[in-house]
Amino acid sequence: MKVLVLGGTGEARQLAAALTELPGIEFVSSLAGRVRDPVLPVGPTRVGGFGGIGGLVRYLRTERVGAVVDATHPFAAVMTRHAERACLRLGLPLLVLRRPGWSGNWHRIASIGDAPGRITALVPDDSCVFLTTGRGELAVFATDARHRYLIRTVDPPQQPLPPRTDLLLDRGPYTVDGERDLMRAHQVALLVTKDSGGDLTSAKLAAAEQLGVPVLMVSRPPLPAGVAAVETVDAAVAWLRTVAGAASADG
Ligand code: NAP
Repeated sequence: MKVLVLGGTGEARQLAAALTELPGIEFVSSLAGRVRDPVLPVGPTRVGGFGGIGGLVRYLRTERVGAVVDATHPFAAVMTRHAERACLRLGLPLLVLRRPGWSGNWHRIASIGDAPGRITALVPDDSCVFLTTGRGELAVFATDARHRYLIRTVDPPQQPLPPRTDLLLDRGPYTVDGERDLMRAHQVALLVTKDSGGDLTSAKLAAAEQLGVPVLMVSRPPLPAGVAAVETVDAAVAWLRTVAGAASADG
């Protein structure tokens, strides 16, 4: 059985590594191609969008894919919706592999568009806001001249930035000590981040707690209704064993 792994995360790379050991499964990992210098998974990989739901349907048919694991980032909601629509259309089994979210005592917002208003309510003018929400939606902060920003992204942002910005290009993983030193050096008054989950980028939350810096957390977009989801690579492998077993019994 051929499996399409929608990737771009550490979990997708771990799944690809596990699948190289799994008899009866052929797989291909898919990356969007957004990051300049991506960490590639082991095994066959394709790069670039499919061209919407229709393009994905065509790809799945042409490549005779028998099952899809969506191991994209918890905030890659468009890809997840496209996978759900395409698999439904073709009657293909789909599993979402999504690491658990973080838990803590934070201010929460439903989407990044709500952030500028909440920042103004939470911290005084001229305070430093540490933004680690990725480079995709920075334009919503572009007109905020009231606050100073420390913005950290993997690749250089292509959107307009707030006038008073210190830009930091880095991809982690980060340590609590390093994050604390960084926040101290910039006198960070508020951390704005999104609920990505996982260990690679969680040090900033521990550092913020130690420093008493409040956190404004963007909640995850919900999964499409009815989609099967697991939180670990082992559970995804177990699901694939079951699906591959059922496919070979059928065929
Ligand atoms: P998105 O908004 O959900 O998807 C936008 C479009 O990008 C999709 O419609 C699709 O294009 C293409 N795409 C996304 N993931 C793809 C994949 N794995 N393989 C092929 N095409 C893909 O996605 P995003 O939030 O921009 O994230 C893009 C990639 O970066 C994802 O693979 C995700 O796992 C990774 N990533 C995202 C974040 C984040 O915060 N969003 C963080 C870390 C890593 P078509 O419609 O043309 O098929």
